[in-house]
Amino acid sequence: MTIYERLLDVQDVDTTIEQVEHQRSVLPLRAEHAEVARRHGELSTRRGEIAAERDALRRSQQRLEDEVEQLESKRAREEKAMNSGAVTNPRELQGLQAEVESLARRQRELEDEELEIMEALEPLDADVARLDGELASLATELERLEVAVADADAALAAQLEELRSERSSRSGSLPADVLADYEKLRAQLGGIAIARLADGTCGGCHLRLSAVEIDRIRHLPLDERVTCEECGRLLVR
Ligand SMILES: [Zn+2]
Repeated sequence: MTIYERLLDVQDVDTTIEQVEHQRSVLPLRAEHAEVARRHGELSTRRGEIAAERDALRRSQQRLEDEVEQLESKRAREEKAMNSGAVTNPRELQGLQAEVESLARRQRELEDEELEIMEALEPLDADVARLDGELASLATELERLEVAVADADAALAAQLEELRSERSSRSGSLPADVLADYEKLRAQLGGIAIARLADGTCGGCHLRLSAVEIDRIRHLPLDERVTCEECGRLLVR
């Protein structure tokens, strides 16, 4: 095996490493996880808004209930006074009667308001319950995806580790200047520094070399450094 054939083996494993690194960085599961997390965040905000609206209504409902309770006990006191026989003055009795009626009216008004609030609360409670259900299933989905992302990432990391050790065993015995040349060309030529020359065509740029160049190369020793006249990549014959 010539130095350049061994270098081509290094190139092969480097190309695979690049592909696996790319796979790892664009993991579709990660995008899926991000999408589910975004949706979870959106619904969670929505739930917060509806719950705040519902809680404000519940506070109003509580205030009305307290007020109704106060009115009721006041009315009970007045009715008791009215029926106790202690008040005999007809005008005073009439006054009490009017007061009791007015309290009852006010109570009915408040109770109507309370009913309206309860009706408004119903769909809000239903929305919060529905969102809670959706959020719970999204949370489960997120957990599942987190595990799946971690598993896929770990599998690719293990694969990379293996490839890197393969790479160092393939490149270990190559001369430092050949490797430096290779790395420099890789940086300049989109990661591919060396290709096979087959049927007079460069495997890197897929262009055909001139007949003169092919003839010149044919007469060179196999370990001689040869580059493609079109793309500048090292050629393995
Ligand atoms: Zn080329």
